[in-house]
Amino acid sequence: MEDPLFASLGAFPRLVCGLSARQHGTMTAAADPARKAQVIQNFQRYFASIDLAAANAVRCKQAHGATVAAVAAAQRGTAVRDTDGLVTATPQTFLAVTVGDCLPLYFYDPKRQAVGLAHAGWRSLQQGIPAATVRQLQDQYGTSPSDVLVGIGPGIGPCHFLVGPDVAERFAAFPAAFTRRADGTLALDLKAVAALQLHACGVRREHIETSSDCTACLSERYFSYRRDRPAVVEAMVAVIGLR
Ligand SMILES: [Zn+2]
Repeated sequence: MEDPLFASLGAFPRLVCGLSARQHGTMTAAADPARKAQVIQNFQRYFASIDLAAANAVRCKQAHGATVAAVAAAQRGTAVRDTDGLVTATPQTFLAVTVGDCLPLYFYDPKRQAVGLAHAGWRSLQQGIPAATVRQLQDQYGTSPSDVLVGIGPGIGPCHFLVGPDVAERFAAFPAAFTRRADGTLALDLKAVAALQLHACGVRREHIETSSDCTACLSERYFSYRRDRPAVVEAMVAVIGLR
């Protein structure tokens, strides 16, 4: 057994919380339909490796927005369109999003037995996807934000995420997430932005666990668009659900 992604979420035996690695192959064919058969095989093998039926997965066609859909058994085996976040309270329904450098955000409400998963790059963070996911959990399942546990990452760290003024100005509300380097460039810590947004919508600081793994630093383990600039985007799949 591998170490859990997050110690906090790993403490719940029924909760599955995973992220594929480079060794499992790319999990997105969005930019290259010719890869579709290979991606399906990679996806099925990864699910089998963590003892899950790939047929029970609900995926989404990600749009770098902040739309979060509530799903149940009927959506198993489908991909929800124009959506970057999913929530469910149905067991054996495994939410899946693909991530390269964007952050996976894993949500679990142990009181309501509800889970959520979001794909959060800077565009989705700017549009407030952490709060949108919490709101869906509240609206659909009666979740209280103070009960929600969240795991942030792995994803690109401030060591590799340099931003220009166009991106920086959109995150002006989070000065603590920026560092100015000696050469004058500006680095943004997306994980810190996500944590600040979560806290602002009622998630307790002690319920937020952030992975220190930077996808661009750890080239053996993760795909990274910013590092590799591949002609065709390669990505991992993040998954959460209740057995
Ligand atoms: Zn890095």
